[in-house]
Amino acid sequence: ETLDNGLDKTRQGMFSKLKHAIAGKSKIDDDVLDELEEVFVTSDVGVETTLKIIDRIQQRVARDHYVGTSELNDLLCDEITKLLADNNNADMEDFTVPADKKPYVIMVVGVNGVGKTTTIGKLAYQFKKAGNRVVLGAADTFRAAADEQLEIWGQRVGVPVIHHDHYEDEEKKDPNKHPDPAAVAYKAVAKAKEENADVVIVDTAGRLHNNVNLMNQLTKMKNVMKKVLPEAPHEILLVIDGSTGQNAFEQAKQFVAATEVNALAVTKLDGTAKGGVVIGISDQFQIPVKYIGLGEGIEDLQIFRKNEFVKSLFG
Ligand code: GDP
Repeated sequence: ETLDNGLDKTRQGMFSKLKHAIAGKSKIDDDVLDELEEVFVTSDVGVETTLKIIDRIQQRVARDHYVGTSELNDLLCDEITKLLADNNNADMEDFTVPADKKPYVIMVVGVNGVGKTTTIGKLAYQFKKAGNRVVLGAADTFRAAADEQLEIWGQRVGVPVIHHDHYEDEEKKDPNKHPDPAAVAYKAVAKAKEENADVVIVDTAGRLHNNVNLMNQLTKMKNVMKKVLPEAPHEILLVIDGSTGQNAFEQAKQFVAATEVNALAVTKLDGTAKGGVVIGISDQFQIPVKYIGLGEGIEDLQIFRKNEFVKSLFG
């Protein structure tokens, strides 16, 4: 999927509403701003961020006295681009890993169903394609299916997947006992270091029992990785489903409270009109969106570039 195709539904949703908002008007006035507010809120930008955008447009209109509705798109491009958090890994454009950050460790977090496994598979593919040696860690030991799915992705991409040691007989009998995710995380990073790999991507359990539980588990995983590599994890990547709108905000809040999320991947932007969530989440949490998912295929993941994204929506 290209960016423009992938954002079709969101663009159409916003565009038709925007067109309606400015129909028959030559300048941006309070009515237009009210309608604009409605457009953004219903496109899942979120109320806080919407008010921020409207406020900025209002200031520009006040400063320049007369702003025609034909300039609205330019204004929106400008202000929304400024609002979006900058990618904090500009040196990793196009999936190249700087020599001093190898092996680059990505810990991937998020609730079940958001597209975590798929995103890990797509990332492995892109990193490998860029010439990196990749290792995957199947540390979501709570779901047998997650383990198997990651193995399938590993085979597809042609990269090794580190699994937990087989269940002890005791554990097999007790459905509440699971292999330790931290042990898998440790093994994956150790293996990557041993074999001079460039990138390690570690899955985590997506079960949200409660916040304390989540926090403890993620902290433990981080700590064992640090035993192998003090700077690990370089990236704690939260995967959220862009088609769930406000739900995505709630999930982000929980994970941000539980661990130091420093990058976001927003999936399923194809086939949804709720793509405005990218703008709201990035603004509210001041965490850069690093990757976006635009389809189910192995190539349907892109590095998020805010200028291109905003241009695709409003350009
Ligand atoms: P997990 O439970 O978070 O590991 O989720 P999965 O990776 O298994 O994905 C759940 C479903 O979402 C699968 O059917 C994926 O094919 C689908 N999916 C993941 N990412 C995307 C995306 O960017 N676009 C679309 N359309 N589907 C996606």
